[in-house]
Amino acid sequence: MSESLDEVRSDRHESTALPESTALPAPTAASLRDALLHHLRFTVGTTPERASAFDWRMAVSHTIRDRAVDPWFESVRRTEAEDRKRVHYLSMEFLIGRILEDAAINLGLRDTIDEVLDGFGLSFTEIAEGEPDAALGNGGLGRLAACYLESMATVGCPGYGYGLRYEHGLFEQSFENGRQVETPENWLATGNPWDFTRPETAYRVGFGGEVIEEGGRRIWVPRSRVLAAAHDTPVVGYGARWANTLRLWAAMPGAELFDLDRFNAGDFAAASEAEALARSLTRVLYPNDTTDGGKQLRLSQEYFLSSASVQDILARHLGAHDDLRRLPESVAIQMNDTHPAIAGPELIRLLVDEHGFGFDAAAGIATQVLGYTNHTLLPEALERWTVGLMRHVLPRHLEIIEGLDTQFVELQGERPDPVRLIGGDQVNMGDLAFAVSHKVNGVSALHTDLVRKDLFPVHDELHPGRIVNITNGITPRRWLKLANPALSELITDTIGSGWETDLDRLRGLEQHADDPGFQEAFGRTKRLAKVRFADWLAAEHDIEAPLDALFDAQVKRLHEYKRQLLNILWTIARYQRIKRDPGAGWVPRVKIFGGKAAPSYDTAKEIIRLINDVARIVNDDPETRDLLRVIYPPNYGVSMAQKLIPASDLSEQISTAGMEASGTGNMKFALNGALTIGTLDGANVEIREHVGAGNFFLFGLTTDEVAARRSEADHARTAIMASRPLQDVLQSVAEGAFSPDEPHRHGRLVDLMWNSDWFLVASDFDAYDSAQDEVDRAYRDSHHWQRMAILNIARMGHFSSDRSIREYMSRIWDIPAAL
Ligand SMILES: *Cc1c(COP(=O)(O)O)cnc(C)c1O
Repeated sequence: MSESLDEVRSDRHESTALPESTALPAPTAASLRDALLHHLRFTVGTTPERASAFDWRMAVSHTIRDRAVDPWFESVRRTEAEDRKRVHYLSMEFLIGRILEDAAINLGLRDTIDEVLDGFGLSFTEIAEGEPDAALGNGGLGRLAACYLESMATVGCPGYGYGLRYEHGLFEQSFENGRQVETPENWLATGNPWDFTRPETAYRVGFGGEVIEEGGRRIWVPRSRVLAAAHDTPVVGYGARWANTLRLWAAMPGAELFDLDRFNAGDFAAASEAEALARSLTRVLYPNDTTDGGKQLRLSQEYFLSSASVQDILARHLGAHDDLRRLPESVAIQMNDTHPAIAGPELIRLLVDEHGFGFDAAAGIATQVLGYTNHTLLPEALERWTVGLMRHVLPRHLEIIEGLDTQFVELQGERPDPVRLIGGDQVNMGDLAFAVSHKVNGVSALHTDLVRKDLFPVHDELHPGRIVNITNGITPRRWLKLANPALSELITDTIGSGWETDLDRLRGLEQHADDPGFQEAFGRTKRLAKVRFADWLAAEHDIEAPLDALFDAQVKRLHEYKRQLLNILWTIARYQRIKRDPGAGWVPRVKIFGGKAAPSYDTAKEIIRLINDVARIVNDDPETRDLLRVIYPPNYGVSMAQKLIPASDLSEQISTAGMEASGTGNMKFALNGALTIGTLDGANVEIREHVGAGNFFLFGLTTDEVAARRSEADHARTAIMASRPLQDVLQSVAEGAFSPDEPHRHGRLVDLMWNSDWFLVASDFDAYDSAQDEVDRAYRDSHHWQRMAILNIARMGHFSSDRSIREYMSRIWDIPAAL
């Protein structure tokens, strides 16, 4: 890293040292070396001569982890001594990625450990790359949870992340003949050096059974119980001034679960039931993004997370206080989407059934404690469980939800058609989450507007002010300092350090936007990132990427609303135009795709296959090869994103307006100096306002226009008939130009375009096409392009997750910073 950077630096400043850790002085290279050798010998059980890359990674990870412990303990000590309120972030997903380098950076040890390993002839970067991604999430929602935990630790918000320790994270994706193939992910196969296992911190979580009446009280007698055991990972903030805990629950099979009495009584099946449940509960992450099937196991997982976490929170509170009425003074619980919404009824159940509260008092306390973040308006993603299933799995909770439903209907007075938490035979988890929360937030200004108007208008009328907006953010430590070392150094050399924890300081780059020297230096960082990405592509996937082309990337989960289809259809149009007129001065482009489709999402998988089919034909065509390349490296995840995003020139954020709640990929790209081509959707709207309309390629229908267009009969056909380029594209796909071995392979997609096109690909095609022309024009003027890119970086400070977390602290959690 350092050699290449010397070329980039023009005028070098002394960078300020990191703030010192609270407890230990920054270790010297010699003391880190000793610690490393100690772990190699006593933790891993080998010698430097014999150690494999894996052995070294384990020893390095333990060496780094040791340094997290003091700030971690000190943060707990202070929280307790000062009796501080804590936030508990409940999320079914934490898409963390690799931990080692991030921890080393936040602890201020990145360069020292590099030096130490260099002494053994080893490369820290190579060792760090051996770590599997902790992929305990599907996409944006899980990655947001990871950014938020890191920011909480950085700004000094005392708290816990609570999640599940899935044995198998998100599936691994490969392509066979262009088709997505899924294989199980196995991140724990070789052990996880980051977590502290706490088998003694375990809670029983009940399932099924019945509710009986005893002395006027309702008592739940579960049919089976499963133990939730804690696994803790310290999360250290930047500068190591604060650290929090990520506590992941694992369902523990063990002697206690096996019901010997039942077994001896001859009830073999029931006796083994809890054991079977324990084995399946935390085995695998549901791979569905945005949609949820009505699956009993999923509900059980959600309850397992919620119950273990709420029990843990109450136990901690009671360890220091004797009055649960004062719970809201020391506890905030944030529900990341509706997935942990059963935490509301669970908290009420524990207060009523085990601590003697009346129902109304318990519901009142729960509401003061809980907050709910809504992530989507898509009807298929709003969780609903049938009353039958709820009764079967959680009979006591169903009674409590009925009680909340009654309260809620009463609140609506004479309204003729009241909104119900239980409507027909369905429990509506969105309405439930709303009813038990004192604040409900959307994740971008546009999204929050739609949450108010379209999703919860009645709730909003009954509880004005409960809905607030907190626009998502990303952590600049992982997404700039770690992912883009060259650009980070250039920034530090230009405006000094400090931007890492105060991203608004990037504004200082604005004055350099027109400076040819700075533009050139920025261009070199982009070039370095391209080289790094291209080297990785060649080594890992045997894919070649021409470095002089415009890198145009769309990486995110595969979903119709995200419109990868629009992108690939336009790519075909570009291919046809180059074929017709190869000498027309085309800007060379590499179209980069990345992303997984839910295994059961057929249309998304067909789009993947189309992209791969187009790639094969286009990349093999000697006439176009130098002007257009389509690449789709498989298995997109956090680590790939860290390499790809810094290398990109253009960021595709082209969802149908009104459908992307916020997006955070859009923020990562802009922060790394990629320009956005995008619709007025999610946080794109605010990004454009911040970076300036002239530094953003806008196109497409607005949310209102989308609604209007959809109601027009035959809108798809009309739009296609009006666009000659789109007709040509669809015809070539229909004729099998990209699947000569099976001409009708993509017939269904073409059909979808002509006959339904819910996501308005056809309606937005021409506007997208014009915006892409504008991209080419802008790119040809290199100074102009660099200027726009630098202004994007300079104006992205608002999208730091530190800002988001501070907003949560003041507007929802009522927690002051401990720093
Ligand atoms: C940031 C991120 C996402 C979210 O991307 P969007 O474009 O906002 O959907 C998904 N997956 C990974 C691996 C990410 O890093």
